[in-house]
Amino acid sequence: MRHLSTLTFVILLAAPLWSWGDKGHRVVSTLALRSLPAEPRTWFAGREAEVCDHASDPDHWKQDRKEGPRHFLDMEPYGDPARLPRTLEEAQARVGGEYYRLGVVPWIIQDRWRDLVDAFRSGDPARVAFATAILGHYIGDAHVPLHTTTNHDGQLTGQKGIHSRWESSLVERYLVAADLTVLPAQPDQAFLERPWDWLVAAHALVPQLLADEQGADRTTPLGNRGKLRGQAYWMIFWAKQGPVVKQQLQLAGQHLGDAILNAWIAAGRPTLAAKPPN
Ligand SMILES: [Zn+2]
Repeated sequence: MRHLSTLTFVILLAAPLWSWGDKGHRVVSTLALRSLPAEPRTWFAGREAEVCDHASDPDHWKQDRKEGPRHFLDMEPYGDPARLPRTLEEAQARVGGEYYRLGVVPWIIQDRWRDLVDAFRSGDPARVAFATAILGHYIGDAHVPLHTTTNHDGQLTGQKGIHSRWESSLVERYLVAADLTVLPAQPDQAFLERPWDWLVAAHALVPQLLADEQGADRTTPLGNRGKLRGQAYWMIFWAKQGPVVKQQLQLAGQHLGDAILNAWIAAGRPTLAAKPPN
């Protein structure tokens, strides 16, 4: 028993602060593929599992020290959310050398989207599936409110650990994927500008998210004691934030759908070549 709790503790410590967790990223991929119109959807026939299986890959690329900041954007150092930098050059001009450390997720989404356009042009459905999985990861992360703030783990408000409690633990405990709505993908000529809109919208959810957890902690007898939280805490936190979790996953799914549809359009609406008969 002692062994087991030590192991659990190690796993908790090792949990990345980078994402929805495997279940959340799978849900985003699944919603996105279902959001597509018939033609681009044919590219994924028989490859849905492949997309889901690789949707968390970027969270395992820790050996690359530049990987972490690709998953978030700390918005406060840039001041007014309406005035976020639109290029890396502008980010550097505004905050100097620490711009990369503050996060680069909108630019990574742009880069990985271009990879997906190239994949469609290549005609290789396996490449399309992989590029979709990776792009979907970063789009998913851009919809997590705590990926948009300097207070990313509640460390500034006495709520350390809230990051994984919100984006992983609530999802693992309570989310029923079948309860989510598929929102249809939309053509959008200005798609590459959208990540900033998603980040601003997610950032606006931060104060209530923090307040709801403070409320859950006040109401439960265990209170705010490190990692130990009782069932009542989880139920109250989910009652308050469950609708937000679901909304953000649905939007991430729709926006990955938008990304795929618009990449396919940008690639010239390619049709998947029929396999030659064996
Ligand atoms: Zn991530």
